[in-house]
Amino acid sequence: MDEIRIIPIGSGSTGNCFYIEIGGYRFLIDMGIGYKKVRDALAMHDRSLEEIDAIFLTHGHYDHVKAAEPITNHTVCKVYANRSVMYSIRKTKTERVVLNMYEDIELFPGLTVRMFKVPHDFAYTCGYSFRTANRKVAYVTDCGRMKEQFLQELIGADVVIIESNHDVEMLKNGPYPKQLQARIRSEAGHLSNDECAETIAYLKEKGTSHFLLAHLSLHNNTPEIALETTRKRINDPEIDLYVCPDEGNDLLIY
Ligand SMILES: [Zn+2]
Ligand SMILES: [Zn+2]
Repeated sequence: MDEIRIIPIGSGSTGNCFYIEIGGYRFLIDMGIGYKKVRDALAMHDRSLEEIDAIFLTHGHYDHVKAAEPITNHTVCKVYANRSVMYSIRKTKTERVVLNMYEDIELFPGLTVRMFKVPHDFAYTCGYSFRTANRKVAYVTDCGRMKEQFLQELIGADVVIIESNHDVEMLKNGPYPKQLQARIRSEAGHLSNDECAETIAYLKEKGTSHFLLAHLSLHNNTPEIALETTRKRINDPEIDLYVCPDEGNDLLIY
């Protein structure tokens, strides 16, 4: 009951979807992975879409909402997001509920959800934290810069799922046109490996020791480089780092 269980079903620009279990409740974050892959990843661990208690969306970019309609054909739970996302998911089959930023909501008995704003080029992109009396998990991807305001939102989490999008040198020398490179590097873009490492170092000091590196770029990063960048910055063998694959069905238990 007290365990946090996570299945990183999809992570990156081809599609995002995470399964998170906390306090005995079962959630999905984002619906950017096709229905069958989500169904199969859950089934491998005796979970099913019909048992999902709530779905949360971070923003309306295609890689986070493209499977909203087929997935909600197989769920009975509500879909939670802020107002800016609602137009992108108007075809979902189950009820859509608007959440407001920076409000602690006890969505289920003993389980508090909080949405917080992150800088990205879709209006009101957000991260989430999920909290019970003694466990907390936080999720933040698609985030141009780490800002003091929402760094505070991550403090105290047992597990943090955090973007480690690109290696700055690979992006500079990679295949993307200059304009796209500038967008990715900008405050409204994506978090670099260096900034991710910096954030993890800060959160480690504050007591978090489990991190999932997420939303890695296919062209401007590798799992090895992302991992190495954070390992070098922190140099602490105790820290638990997991790199989320593009598509996966590992069950992680914390
Ligand atoms: Zn994305
Ligand atoms: Zn995005």
